[in-house]
Amino acid sequence: DLGSSLRGTLDDLRGKSRIDKADVDEVVKQIQRSLLQADVDVGLVMGLSDSIKDRALNEEPVAGTTARDQVLKIVYEEMVGLVGDSTEIPLESQTIMLAGLQGSGKTTTAAKIAWWFSKKGLRPAVIQTDTFRPGAYDQAKQMCERAEVDFYGDPDGNDPVEIAREGLEATADAEVHIVDTAGRHALESDLIDEIEEIDTVVDPDLSLLVLDAAIGQGAKQQAQEFEESIGVGGVIITKLDGTAKGGGALTAVNETESSIAFLGTGETVQDIERFEPNGFISRLLGMGDLKQLSERVERAMAETQAEDEDWDPEDIMKGSFTLKDMKKQMEAMNRMGPLDQVLDMIPGFGGGIMDQLPDDAMDTTQDRMRQFEVIMDSMTDEEMENPQSVTSAQIERIARGSGTEEETVRELLSQHKMMDQTLNQFKGMGDGDMQRMMKK
Ligand code: GDP
Ligand code: MG
Repeated sequence: DLGSSLRGTLDDLRGKSRIDKADVDEVVKQIQRSLLQADVDVGLVMGLSDSIKDRALNEEPVAGTTARDQVLKIVYEEMVGLVGDSTEIPLESQTIMLAGLQGSGKTTTAAKIAWWFSKKGLRPAVIQTDTFRPGAYDQAKQMCERAEVDFYGDPDGNDPVEIAREGLEATADAEVHIVDTAGRHALESDLIDEIEEIDTVVDPDLSLLVLDAAIGQGAKQQAQEFEESIGVGGVIITKLDGTAKGGGALTAVNETESSIAFLGTGETVQDIERFEPNGFISRLLGMGDLKQLSERVERAMAETQAEDEDWDPEDIMKGSFTLKDMKKQMEAMNRMGPLDQVLDMIPGFGGGIMDQLPDDAMDTTQDRMRQFEVIMDSMTDEEMENPQSVTSAQIERIARGSGTEEETVRELLSQHKMMDQTLNQFKGMGDGDMQRMMKK
């Protein structure tokens, strides 16, 4: 895990008051590895490296700060300079056009942005102009229904420019117009011609380039072409819920002299976030994005709690960790997304506590979670409260009752035990330790 080695190197600097060239080189080397692996352009990485080295060695540290904090500050400031602030999106009437290659996530994002505006109290409408891809109309319509926003499209139309014109008229009551366009597998001149014509008719206040997080080096040419044809005012990175970290989008930001507007983090209309440099940088560096995590955890916990008013996640840190708590956590985890990704966002977890567990301890795939849930449904309250006292005879009964193998019941119990032990390590920490870890 690259993030944890960077974290380790930085932590090694904690005791030092001055940083030397070898320290800086080591930090920069690890940042380079993280960024290159996240698909950030080599040129951008080199430029950043030079600035960090230069500043770290030449700037006088602020009195009272450690070498580690000084380097962290410089790294963070330089990274913010690289990724930029989020694109300004005024909460007022406007027209936004989406551009990008096929499959990048435009149609999904159009509905997401509409949903986002509707949550801000504005009335949005999506206009679907893709006549190229079969099914584009139905897909857009369904997503807009899910987002509960106005939609215009023409299933039989074959002139995107005409659809755009009609769509703007038909949705005149809406305050925010989001125009979805067609993509192609590659940048072909007819795609560019088409989007230029739509651009002329729509005259958007903002054109956003939609990029798949996995884009990598291809971002450069796309950004240049779209910038030249329609002018890119901002970038959207989709599919950040996958493994790709979206570093390629920085190339696009750099090429278009724009910024990142939104992040797509899933397939449903709610899976959209405003870009926020802090979280994105943490993610790029693999250092844990606690802000995003805590929001997701909070939301998931709140939902889980809403279903069971007697359950308070905070009790886990106070009392004992029962199977009931584990069940609730699993439900909450299900809502948060893949477990390893969630853990990935917690500073300290990469090379920390979770890594000390055997690999399969955290093998909480969806299937397995479902099995565990079935098993727990076959357990008595007493067994749920005191899983450590469950006997072989009880295991046999539970397995029979839930239609699972005894082995799986045992796995559930041992996973609970491991989680319980892990939590006990946390409980052993003082509040200060915990807070410091969370702030990192
Ligand atoms: P378009 O061709 O640019 O309009 O792309 P679509 O909106 O049709 O998206 C292509 C595929 O990517 C669809 O299967 C979407 O569900 C999926 N997709 C879009 N955005 C995201 C995202 O943020 N996360 C994930 N996991 N999938 C996404
Ligand atoms: Mg589409």
